[in-house]
Amino acid sequence: MGNKLDILGTAAAIAKGLGVTFKEMMSPTVTDNYPDEPPRFEERFRGVHVLQRDQNGLEKCVACFLCAAACPSNCIYIEAAENTDRVRISGGERYAKVYNIDYNRCIFCGYCVEACPTDAITHGHGFEVASFNTSTLVKRKEDMLAPVPPGAKPPVVVPEEEGAPAAAH
Ligand code: SF4
Ligand code: SF4
Repeated sequence: MGNKLDILGTAAAIAKGLGVTFKEMMSPTVTDNYPDEPPRFEERFRGVHVLQRDQNGLEKCVACFLCAAACPSNCIYIEAAENTDRVRISGGERYAKVYNIDYNRCIFCGYCVEACPTDAITHGHGFEVASFNTSTLVKRKEDMLAPVPPGAKPPVVVPEEEGAPAAAH
């Protein structure tokens, strides 16, 4: 009698386990086929930063250094320059002539994004930054700058030394 109960108990346990297996087989797949297909991200994913432009194509960063001050890893390096009548890069008095983030040290905490008064710096969804050469992990402004929005007229820049108009990138 005891043996029969053991066999029935074992069969019930196996049936229960297989029930879970079949149920999962019928459920939608939640894994991504990366790298064969692009991964899906939640909106709040914190990837490589993007330096934003306004609707006119001007850079939003006004070189106030608040992001650098808020960064716990001390990995943001900025050199500020003045906008002039001949050279206008941002909508404020100053713009970031140099803006580097060292991804050797960045911990993707988002403090810089929260500190920015102009929403100039945001997290993008870029994540493929692994490298055997750590010098490539220092991203420059040109690597992170958002493209000029469609329909916007890029600001005209007249290089001080040349006097010839050139479209800003
Ligand atoms: S995400 Fe954090 S660690 Fe990275 S640059 Fe911003 S403040 Fe610094
Ligand atoms: S990204 Fe924002 S906080 Fe950082 S210097 Fe530019 S305007 Fe200031």
